[in-house]
Amino acid sequence: MSVIAAFFIFSITFIRAEIYFQQDVDYDIEVTLNDTDKTLTAYEIINYKNNSPDTLEFIWFHLWPNAYKNDSSALAKQFFRLGSTRFLNTKEKNRGYIDSLDFSVDGVKAEWQFHSEYIDVAKIFLPEPLFPGAQIKIETPFFVKLPRVISRLGHMGKHFEITQWYPKPAVYDKNGWHVMPYLNMGEFYSEYGTFDVKITLPENYRLMATGDMVNGQKELLWLDSLAIVGDSFKNLSKKELEEHFKKIDGKKEKLKKANEKDSLKVYKNKTIHFRQEDVHDFAWFADPKWIVQKGELSLPSSNRKVTLWSMYLPENAWTWRKSLEYLHDSGQWFSKSYGEYPYNHITAVDGNMSAGGGMEYPNITVISRSDTEDLLEYVIMHEVGHNWFYGILGTNERDHAWMDEGLTEFSGIRYWEEKYDKRNGRFIFSELLQDKIGIGKNVDMSYYQYSGYCSGATSQDAQPLNISSNENYFYRNYGKNYSKVSVMMRYLQHYLGREKLDIIMQDYYESWKFKHPGPKDFVSFFNKHLDEDIDWFFENMIDSTTYIDYKISKKNGKYFLENLGSFNAMAEVAYYDDDNQEINRIWVRPKQKRTALDVPSGCSKIIIDPDQYMPDVNRTNNSTNKKLKMNFVFDKPSFYDIDLNVSPWFPMYNSYDGLSNGIYIKYGGSAGFGGQSIDAWLLYGDRTKMLNGIVWTKKEIDNLWSFSSGTFESMIESRNGREGASFKFVGNNQKRDIYRYENKKIEIDLYYHNIKSNLALSPVLYDLGEFGIAKISMKNFWERDMFNEFSIGSQLHFSSRFAKLNFRAGYYKKFSKKVETLIKINFGTFLFSDKIPKQYRYYLSGSIVPDFDNYVWDRSGDNQFSILNGFYHNGGIRGVNVENPYIASTDNILSLRIDQKVPKIPGKIFFDYATGSILPKENYISGGIKLGPLIIPLYQNWEEKNKIPNNFEWIKERVRFIWVFSRVSFF
Ligand SMILES: [Zn+2]
Repeated sequence: MSVIAAFFIFSITFIRAEIYFQQDVDYDIEVTLNDTDKTLTAYEIINYKNNSPDTLEFIWFHLWPNAYKNDSSALAKQFFRLGSTRFLNTKEKNRGYIDSLDFSVDGVKAEWQFHSEYIDVAKIFLPEPLFPGAQIKIETPFFVKLPRVISRLGHMGKHFEITQWYPKPAVYDKNGWHVMPYLNMGEFYSEYGTFDVKITLPENYRLMATGDMVNGQKELLWLDSLAIVGDSFKNLSKKELEEHFKKIDGKKEKLKKANEKDSLKVYKNKTIHFRQEDVHDFAWFADPKWIVQKGELSLPSSNRKVTLWSMYLPENAWTWRKSLEYLHDSGQWFSKSYGEYPYNHITAVDGNMSAGGGMEYPNITVISRSDTEDLLEYVIMHEVGHNWFYGILGTNERDHAWMDEGLTEFSGIRYWEEKYDKRNGRFIFSELLQDKIGIGKNVDMSYYQYSGYCSGATSQDAQPLNISSNENYFYRNYGKNYSKVSVMMRYLQHYLGREKLDIIMQDYYESWKFKHPGPKDFVSFFNKHLDEDIDWFFENMIDSTTYIDYKISKKNGKYFLENLGSFNAMAEVAYYDDDNQEINRIWVRPKQKRTALDVPSGCSKIIIDPDQYMPDVNRTNNSTNKKLKMNFVFDKPSFYDIDLNVSPWFPMYNSYDGLSNGIYIKYGGSAGFGGQSIDAWLLYGDRTKMLNGIVWTKKEIDNLWSFSSGTFESMIESRNGREGASFKFVGNNQKRDIYRYENKKIEIDLYYHNIKSNLALSPVLYDLGEFGIAKISMKNFWERDMFNEFSIGSQLHFSSRFAKLNFRAGYYKKFSKKVETLIKINFGTFLFSDKIPKQYRYYLSGSIVPDFDNYVWDRSGDNQFSILNGFYHNGGIRGVNVENPYIASTDNILSLRIDQKVPKIPGKIFFDYATGSILPKENYISGGIKLGPLIIPLYQNWEEKNKIPNNFEWIKERVRFIWVFSRVSFF
């Protein structure tokens, strides 16, 4: 390419990037629902106007019902990649597809073909090129077999959620075609236009959709009459409501018969016509059982009237009784804060979606089951809010999910903090726990989001927001589009002030409504309205995984603001006097890792971010002069004091101390504590009449030395006839991409055990005395996908008297839903064995957990539930010698264990083999069935009389419970 040509092309791209355009796509669809076959038969006419400067030879179409067709769809692959077998295990009859397509353009038949990779995308070749400014008419019939709801489109019996259901052109914008297979996350990017849709369905259905009804007087009168019935429930108490529906339920038999009759009854069809301009999507929902409520919202600035519809299932009537209020307040709040709602109705319908929470479409949202009123209001408000961030501001959600999910979620916090200001923004997710018992009673909306954000915020697995939602390693990272943006924007709002933020958002809305804004367009409004460059904020929020961690430190009588994090954010610092009165507060932008603070005279206490707007991942180091603060069981932490969660009654049991009652105190272990926790139990045993207890501390650190994460733990305990102390370090080095996961783990443990009583600890299994033990373990684990896992590892256990060495390997493969194989091989030996305490021998029938790392029901050997007869704790074979369950080796031992899942047999078949140099027999072979936590031996080669069961007693004597459940992980 010549330099001139290159320059020419560069100039064109440069100029092109400057020009904004969007295509006009108008739809005319006639569709008929067959509610018995669960199918749609439809005809679609699209008027496509090319507003781009380019001539188009073809148009990409999304045929998203095909996402539900088979395991090769991008949706199926996404489910699988994220560890869900939901799609894979769906029966054929519950899947869906689109077919009967026959495209023509301006009356001329058009050739078309499927995308080479995506079965739900097709390329339609235009018989004639479509020139800039020109318009064509594309027509096609189509037929949809509706899936049972797996992701969004589908039915649940006679309940229909018709979303992402029709052939739809992909977006063509300044960056070219945006070909998108349907995915569960990051759903939308679509062209704006007018939808004119005629829906034919049986007349007993309540139907609501995007758009206004055209000549819908008859249908509206019917809905109005239903709304009168719906209104009559409004003033009933919860009991009365339940009774009302129980009355119907009470006549179950009658109702069942009526339903059967009903399903046989052929209803006449009705056709309802909907029309809506300036939307980029059209969805409709139908159910014959919905209770209907109707309301009205007078828009705050123009007083224009918007109709509110709420349609819900009788079983959710109590939670939904105030749903009109939620619709009203949401529509009003979003209109007031960002810009007026441009359409004529806002509707929420009660769905049975599997996607969880709710789902947004223009004018209409579908809400899944919510257990409390707050949860329902929150979800309705969020989905209504999507009319602004998704519907009216049509961002590319696949690539910038934060722009619609994050800004909507942030609005959720704003809405909640304004509406529920008087109750301090409290959020009720469980009335029983929070209101009746009093646990977590002060949890508020922003704390809830902050907790979501903190989880994994400093992890090596964190990913920036500005990536395709199909590149997220797992749901947690996708979730940051919600939580991170909501807490970061809340902090920005505090920094800028609410009025300033409203001005910016309103300008953004007005300038970009019914268009496709990108991240740069959004950010440009901040720079337009602010005197300072705000890129420092957005770069950290969107493009990187930096995090805020400030600390207040004192050195030589001077106070410093220390930056332990990677995001150099503006920090608000407040100074207090002896009476805890605020003297001053200032914003500090640290230039270095440690910034000296200019402390005013009379100051005796300093707090960074006093009102907790800054999403600092460790808030406990943000204040001086901490006081003790106690919560009942759990509550929202104050962070700036020492928060102790106290459970005043906490029973525990072990066979030595008996039932022990006492208190449990917890510090940390949740968001904002920097991975730190302390747990302490102080109990009184009813058998020993003595105190027993545990103190356990833990600190998790991401990116420690050369590890991706490291954990330190220490534990001191005195209980169950033993005193013990331990110190552990676990270092993980993980590698992850969107498909694979690999982890190299090293663990170093030091133990001290003082075994004092053979009453608690069977003399057959334990030696009394003091033991100092060290353990070093290494393990490599590979996960190719959720159906293929491998691991290898070794473990060295030693004291001055012995050294025990183990090698282990594991392999797990799932061939299908009903066929899977798990193989474990274990070789153990002793490097030297001057004197091996009994508990460190290799037990043929499973380990006895000699270092007390796992809880064991009964180590005494006194009753039938004792350690090896009754329970299997991992390690050895699963058969058990009834006469002597404690066969053990102090020399080499090799074991192989296979678990095989096969069709038609419940649980798994197990086959175990062991051999060892000094075991009583040369070979030990056992087999049987593993049914949930039960091990049922059916063959044991060492039995003198009956190697297989001759009666039920045989099985009863050998059945054991699995006490430690693990797959390939050993340690
Ligand atoms: Zn959302």
